[in-house]
Amino acid sequence: MRGIPETITKCISDNQRFVLLTHIHPDGDALGSMFGLADILEGMGKEVFCFVEEPVSQLYAFLPGAGRASCDLDALHEFVRQAHDKAMMIALDSGDDNRLGKYKDELLAITPLVVIDHHKSHKEYGECRWVEPTRSSTGEMVYELAMALGVEISYSCAFHLYVAICTDTGSFRFDSTHPRTFQIAARLLEAGVNPAEISCKIYDNYSVARLSLLQLVLATLTLYAADQVACIHVTPDMFAASGAAVQDIEGFIDYPRSLQTVKVAVFIKEIQPGQIAVSLRAKGGCDVAEIAKVFNGGGHRNAAGFRFSGKDLAEVRSQVLRVLNNDLGVQPDSTDG
Ligand code: 5GP
Ligand code: MN
Repeated sequence: MRGIPETITKCISDNQRFVLLTHIHPDGDALGSMFGLADILEGMGKEVFCFVEEPVSQLYAFLPGAGRASCDLDALHEFVRQAHDKAMMIALDSGDDNRLGKYKDELLAITPLVVIDHHKSHKEYGECRWVEPTRSSTGEMVYELAMALGVEISYSCAFHLYVAICTDTGSFRFDSTHPRTFQIAARLLEAGVNPAEISCKIYDNYSVARLSLLQLVLATLTLYAADQVACIHVTPDMFAASGAAVQDIEGFIDYPRSLQTVKVAVFIKEIQPGQIAVSLRAKGGCDVAEIAKVFNGGGHRNAAGFRFSGKDLAEVRSQVLRVLNNDLGVQPDSTDG
């Protein structure tokens, strides 16, 4: 562990008002670490504004902090003004500044930024950074920050941090799960977290529309390279036919990844015509963060992603398969499943 920069703990102690940010399309770690830190700061008697670009996904509506996230930029400016411009801004779980979303430039201009992140592909930004790529999750880092600040973990905070750690480790299954991860999880249970209740809220929480979309997406499953690569995709038509929302696709990539022979799973997501996001998941030796970098994306060894615009789905798939070819001997045009 590299340790928390002293400037971060000092700035937190010295400031009264905090704006918390996270990455676009926030997942469990993004929201859990942001709301968990909000709980910690409020426990210290400070005031906190959690900013998100879009309303919190229905999948995370069960988080105690979900209702506090605000998309109101004017309210954010007012909150900072009331601090006589001495508010502190902290970005959580965002591996590069572009992931802060469409208001990035406006947000970065408000006040100096502290960055707390665990992405392997982290691209430095902000005035002060604490980045630990060996950590399972940003939620785990926020727990360490609470310890460094001498703050007791409330039930709400423990709930948020447990969701962060649980989702980013795939329920303590991924390589990033270390002894310290379990030690922290144990402390969160001691603070009142019920793991069965949280697992149920994360994993047994499908709507009919989401399950219908999953049916359509799984029907696209295609295997390549002696079944080592599994590809699925989603199109705007499938969203329309199922009535599901964009957020509903979170977790779908775990299905192709679950195949015994698969080393890399690819999920090509055409959200709007011509706007494509790609998710990659790896098992074993392949480092998908390196593959995402080829396409100006990023992530972790086992989970990474990138975006394309102006290309069609088939074109994106053959480009990705071509890059995977170097790692796994994938033949771009061979389909054996
Ligand atoms: P997901 O596939 O769940 O969207 O993302 C998996 C991982 O890859 C996450 O850690 C996420 O931060 C990272 N990631 C996904 N899309 C992008 C992207 O467009 N750019 C970068 N730098 N990272 C991404
Ligand atoms: Mn994370």
